[in-house]
Amino acid sequence: MNDNNLMSPEVLGFDPEVLSQRYASERDKRIRNDAEEQFEQLSHDSPFANKYLESDPYCKTSDRSPFKDRCEVIVVGGGWVGMLTAARLNQAGIADIRIIESGSDFGGTWYWNRYPGAQCDIESYSYLPLLEETGYVPKLRFSYASEIYEHAQRIGKHFDLYKSAVFQTWVTEILWLEDECLWLIKTNRGDEMLARHVCLGTGAANRPRLPGIPGIEKFRGHSFHTCRWDYDYTGGGPEGGLIGLADKTVAIIGTGATAVQCIPALGESAKQLYVFQRTPSSVDARNNAETDPEWASNLKPGWQKDRQKKFGEAFLGGPIDPAFADDGWTRLTRNVAELANQTGGKVPNLLQMADFKTMEEIRGIVDDTVRDPEIAEKLKAYYNQFCKRPTFNDFYLDTFNRRNVELVDVSATRGVEKITENGIVASGKEYCVDCIVYASGFEITSSYERRLGIPVFGIGGKSIYDHWQGGMRTMHGLMVSGFPNLFLCGGGFVFQLGANYAHGIDVQAEHVAYTISELNSRGVKSANVTFEAEEHWIADQLETKGGGFVLGGASETCTPGYYNQEGTTKRYRNVRRETYSKGVGAYIKLLREWRKNGELQGLELR
Ligand code: NDP
Repeated sequence: MNDNNLMSPEVLGFDPEVLSQRYASERDKRIRNDAEEQFEQLSHDSPFANKYLESDPYCKTSDRSPFKDRCEVIVVGGGWVGMLTAARLNQAGIADIRIIESGSDFGGTWYWNRYPGAQCDIESYSYLPLLEETGYVPKLRFSYASEIYEHAQRIGKHFDLYKSAVFQTWVTEILWLEDECLWLIKTNRGDEMLARHVCLGTGAANRPRLPGIPGIEKFRGHSFHTCRWDYDYTGGGPEGGLIGLADKTVAIIGTGATAVQCIPALGESAKQLYVFQRTPSSVDARNNAETDPEWASNLKPGWQKDRQKKFGEAFLGGPIDPAFADDGWTRLTRNVAELANQTGGKVPNLLQMADFKTMEEIRGIVDDTVRDPEIAEKLKAYYNQFCKRPTFNDFYLDTFNRRNVELVDVSATRGVEKITENGIVASGKEYCVDCIVYASGFEITSSYERRLGIPVFGIGGKSIYDHWQGGMRTMHGLMVSGFPNLFLCGGGFVFQLGANYAHGIDVQAEHVAYTISELNSRGVKSANVTFEAEEHWIADQLETKGGGFVLGGASETCTPGYYNQEGTTKRYRNVRRETYSKGVGAYIKLLREWRKNGELQGLELR
């Protein structure tokens, strides 16, 4: 068979030419010039901040006096990143650590995101941090949010992190005090805390965003963002049973990973549900299962790290351990292997062909589940799998077979047109609703200032955002020249390290713990990355070898979304500066080498 025949639709089972054209036209119809600015930023001075960001529907805010004291390390954020960093610091013998957290308990994402159906999409044995250290094995292959939130509390207790943690507090400013070699951390509670080291563990999804739809402020009904779910209004709980919606007409805007998880519960409970969809998600099978107790009782020391490593390899196209043979994240890797096998490795553009095959299979699940072919067609994702965050759910698609659920396609108008006092306007029609649920996502890859939301001033009062005018500058994605003793834990490019965010952040946490304990044991007051070290990291590791892909491999040719900064990758950031695409294994090796040499290379010490 010659190479042309190998590409024929008969051999492949799909027509690459037709699919390429379809993908391009679906992308073009969604591109908006206002890209990131189409979203309403929820900074603390926004008129929407109190309702959608600062208020905590799960706990009353209590009064306290401001702290004016000093600690060795302040960790900003009490989610996975902050907790892992604090835990690894604790293991390295550093006890004087304070976590500052906006929520009323630990958990971060898993504190705030309690919407019905919330669940981890990476298998829990690899995703939940510190399982071996805390002696816990998750009950399910894919845990639900309440179990994950409980695990955050388990970590907090195990590592004694509650003792000095400060909750319900937003950091408002971080300033380097040159003479004292200390950071000053100010908060919305009037605190002025000093710290030798600051670890920014604010995570990837800490800032919700609203769609900047005209008229959004006019709506007179009820509304909330998915990460501040209002159970007082909906009734029920994370398991569903939203009885408060039995007589309500509800709209949900967005069909990303969050919406896919909560729409089944909304569909089950609401009198009428309108789902406003601009771009469909790819929805693969969940394949959840209860943990086998025998397997759990036979786990050997080191099992979790080993599993995380194997997951990372399988996801990035390496060997697939049997544990991940039916995992949705490895479907593409499996298809690459299968197609290579089927064609004797001769198919041109193998990865793209395997991606087409993968997405055809996922589109097939829609046909198999959704009865109305017109609705089914609207629910099919026409883009490469990692252009957008893949999702996994066994109940989402079936929800569109319900008579009380209507899918409203707003792709032609690049989103919902406007919001009125009474509801939502799409394609000229007004949908009157009692409640709007915003499943509109987070500032995950927005410009760094939007994402972090905290002014940070280093040596000479220079703003970190000015330092990053031409793109993010760091060494190892962790330390920044002119900002001594500051660590961007889980910031920069952790996403590039693989699908399992929790693995990448642990690698960084261990490295930060090593660095801080080493600095302490050498009596160092200030460790500043040299400009040359930053340059070297950027030029040698990112711009020549490591960089290139945007999140998850999404490029400018992808359908817009947060993975590719709404389709305009060059507009806000030099993405290569935030990208280490060689994967977590290579990153571990690189950091290990740096530590082995023991010279704290690239750091200017005082
Ligand atoms: P996303 O940013 O992925 O989705 C936002 C949704 O809002 C998209 O469907 C978007 O459409 C839609 N939208 C935005 N503006 C408009 C508009 N004007 N009109 C109509 N629709 C609009 O947010 P999510 O909260 O779903 O997910 C964010 C991330 O959080 C995930 O990608 C994942 O990393 C993480 N997450 C993880 C989970 C897990 O592991 N279990 C679960 C849930 C989330 P469009 O696509 O066209 O832009």
